[in-house]
Amino acid sequence: MQIRTINSRGTLFTFKNAEWDLNIYFIKGRRYNYIIDTGFGTDSIKPIMEYMNDITKETIVINTHYHWDHIWGNAALKDCLLISHKLCREQIITNWEGMLVKNSRYCCGEVKMHLPDLVFEDELYFAEDRVKLFHSPGHTPDSISIIDEEDSVLILGDNIGDDMEDIIPSIECDRNVYIDTLKKYLKLDFDTFISGHNSVLTKETLETVLHRMQTDI
Ligand SMILES: [Zn+2]
Repeated sequence: MQIRTINSRGTLFTFKNAEWDLNIYFIKGRRYNYIIDTGFGTDSIKPIMEYMNDITKETIVINTHYHWDHIWGNAALKDCLLISHKLCREQIITNWEGMLVKNSRYCCGEVKMHLPDLVFEDELYFAEDRVKLFHSPGHTPDSISIIDEEDSVLILGDNIGDDMEDIIPSIECDRNVYIDTLKKYLKLDFDTFISGHNSVLTKETLETVLHRMQTDI
C-alpha cells in the first residue's frame, strides 16, 4: 500500500493488486474527518484507522457509488456517519448478492452489508470544513463527487477511467448525462483530482476527456 499526502490536508491510500489500483481518500477537516470509499473489506480500512490513531474528531464516511470495490469496507466504520446518494443506498441493496458472488475472490477481511445512514439527492455542504458533496451521474446514476474547496481537490469516484489508456470510464448513464457532469466539474475551482483507481491528475485531463466525449462518435 502506498500513502501520499495531497495538498495541505488530504491523504491518498492506494492499494495495489495485479489488475488495478484502488484509492481511498482521507480529508482531515477542522470539524470532521472524511473517509471517501471503503475498498474491498475490513482489511482495506485497517491501515486508515491506524493512520488516524491519534485523531479524536468525528469521522464521516462517504460512498461515491454502489460498486462493490467502494463499499465492502463499510462495516468496519459502522460507528461513523455513512453518507451516499439516495440511489446508492437502493443499489447496494439490489446488487449486494450479485456483486458478492461475482467478485468474492477480492474480499479483504470481513465483508458485511452496511448501508448509508444519511442520503441526499442534489448536494450536501459541510460549511465549517468547506467540503461539498454533489450528485455527478455518469459512471453510474448514483455517482457523487466531493470537492474540498479549502484544498482545491476534487474526488470524483469512478467518473474517470482506471488508467491513462482507458481514461473514459464505463458509463451506465446516457453519454450526455456524463458530459454534463464533466462540464459541471470544469466550472469548479480545483487543480488536482482523485479517482477510484487512476493516479493523481490535474484539471487539464478532464478537459481532454470532455473534448474526446464531444468529438468521438
Ligand atoms: Zn465503479
